[in-house]
Amino acid sequence: MTSAWTKSIPVAALALGGAAAYMHNNEAHARLPPTRQLKFPPSADFPDLTHHHNIMKNHLTPGVYAKLRDVVTPNGITLDQCIQTGVDNQGHPFIKIVGLVAGDEESYEVFKELFYPVIKERHNGYDPETQTHPIDLDASKIKGGQLDEKYVLSSRVRTGRAIRGIPHPPVCSRAERREVERVVTDALKGLPTELAGKYYSLTTMTDAEQEQLINDHFLFDKPVSPLLTSSGMARDWPDARGIFHNDKKNFLVWINEEDHSRIISMEQGGNMKSVFERFCRGINEVEKLIQAKGWEFQKSDNLGYILTCPSNVGNGLRCGVHVKLPKLSQDPRFNDILEKLRLQKRGTGGVDTAAVGGTFDISNLDRLGKSEVELVQQVIDGVSLLVDMEKKLEKKQSIQHLIPK
Ligand code: ADP
Ligand code: MG
Repeated sequence: MTSAWTKSIPVAALALGGAAAYMHNNEAHARLPPTRQLKFPPSADFPDLTHHHNIMKNHLTPGVYAKLRDVVTPNGITLDQCIQTGVDNQGHPFIKIVGLVAGDEESYEVFKELFYPVIKERHNGYDPETQTHPIDLDASKIKGGQLDEKYVLSSRVRTGRAIRGIPHPPVCSRAERREVERVVTDALKGLPTELAGKYYSLTTMTDAEQEQLINDHFLFDKPVSPLLTSSGMARDWPDARGIFHNDKKNFLVWINEEDHSRIISMEQGGNMKSVFERFCRGINEVEKLIQAKGWEFQKSDNLGYILTCPSNVGNGLRCGVHVKLPKLSQDPRFNDILEKLRLQKRGTGGVDTAAVGGTFDISNLDRLGKSEVELVQQVIDGVSLLVDMEKKLEKKQSIQHLIPK
C-alpha cells in the first residue's frame, strides 16, 4: 500500500513490526496522548461499511482512507469527523443518502479524493475538477410560474449559506455557533420593510410556540434525523438555534440547524414566480448585509456556495411544492417519471416523513451545475406536467404520451 501515511513511516519503526511500529508525524495524531499515538495503521481504523448503502461508501476505499485519515484541515478537522454520519447510518437500498458532511469549507479541498467523487455521483456527473458552477438570481427570466392551486397547496424556495472562517454545525464549538447566530441575526436587522422581521431563539420560545412553528411548516424539526444526531450537528441543542421571520411569515431564516443559515421564501398556493422573486431579493439583501459587517459567505467557482452536506453545494436550492397527486403516486411509473424530470419526493412533514393521502413535497433533485433560474424553471415545468398527468388519470385517460423519454 502506497500512501502519504506509509511514506512517512521511518524505516527503523517498520523494522519493529506489528502495530506498535507505526509512526505518525502529523497534527491529528500529535493531539492524541502518547499512549494512543503510534499504535494503529489506517487499515486498523477502516470503518466496516459492509451493509451500508450510501454514496460515501462507494468512494471510501482503503487507499483513500489511508491517504486521508491523518490529514487535518486548517481548522483541525479530520476525515473521521466528516464520515461519522455515514458510518453510523446504514442507509436504505432504495434511498440514496450521502453519508458525508463537510466539517468546514476547507474539507472539500483537503479531502477532495473523497468529496469530489461523492459530489460527482450525487450531482448527475458534475465534475468539480473541470466545471464551473453558474449562479443566476434574475427571477424575471422565469416563464409562467403560477401553478394550479387545485393541486398545489404551497410553494417554497430555500437555500443555505455558511459564514467563511467558521466551521460547520457538525464540528463547530459552542462559541463558534453563538458567533454565527450573532453575525447573521445582527445582519438581518438591516433588511428592508417587506422582508424585515424578528429573530426568535429556540432557547427562549415555549414548547408550544416551537410545536406550532414546526406544525405550520415554518421551522425545522427537532433533531430526530440521524443526519443531525450522529454527524454532531445536534450537539448542545437548542443553544444558538432559532428562526427569523417577517410578519407575513413568507421570508424566513433558520439559524444553526444543518447549516449556519437557511434562507427561505414560501407562501400558500401556487405562485412560484412570486416566491422566487422574493427569494432572490432576500438572498441578495442578506449577502449585502453580511458583507457590510465584514463577513462573507463560503463560495468557490467550482462548487458554488459551500454548505455542510455535499448534496447541497452549488446553489443549495430546494424549490418545492406541496402537491396533491393521489392517482399519479399510485402509478408504478411515478418514481421513474420523477427521476426523468430530475425531481425528488418527500413527505410533507419534512425529509424524514412519509407522504400521507397522496400529498407530496416535490422539489428539484440537483443543486450543482445548474443555476437557480434553471432549477426553478425545471420545477415549475415538471410540476405542471405532473398535475397534467394527475388530471388525465382522474379521467381514466392514458398518460403514456406525457412521460418524458
Ligand atoms: P429542507 O430541505 O428545507 O431542510 P425539510 O424536508 O427538512 O426541508 O422540511 C423542512 C420544513 O419545511 C418541513 O416542515 C416541511 O414541511 C416544510 N416545507 C418544505 N417544503 C414545503 C412546501 N413546499 N410548502 C410548505 N412547507 C414546506
Ligand atoms: Mg432539512
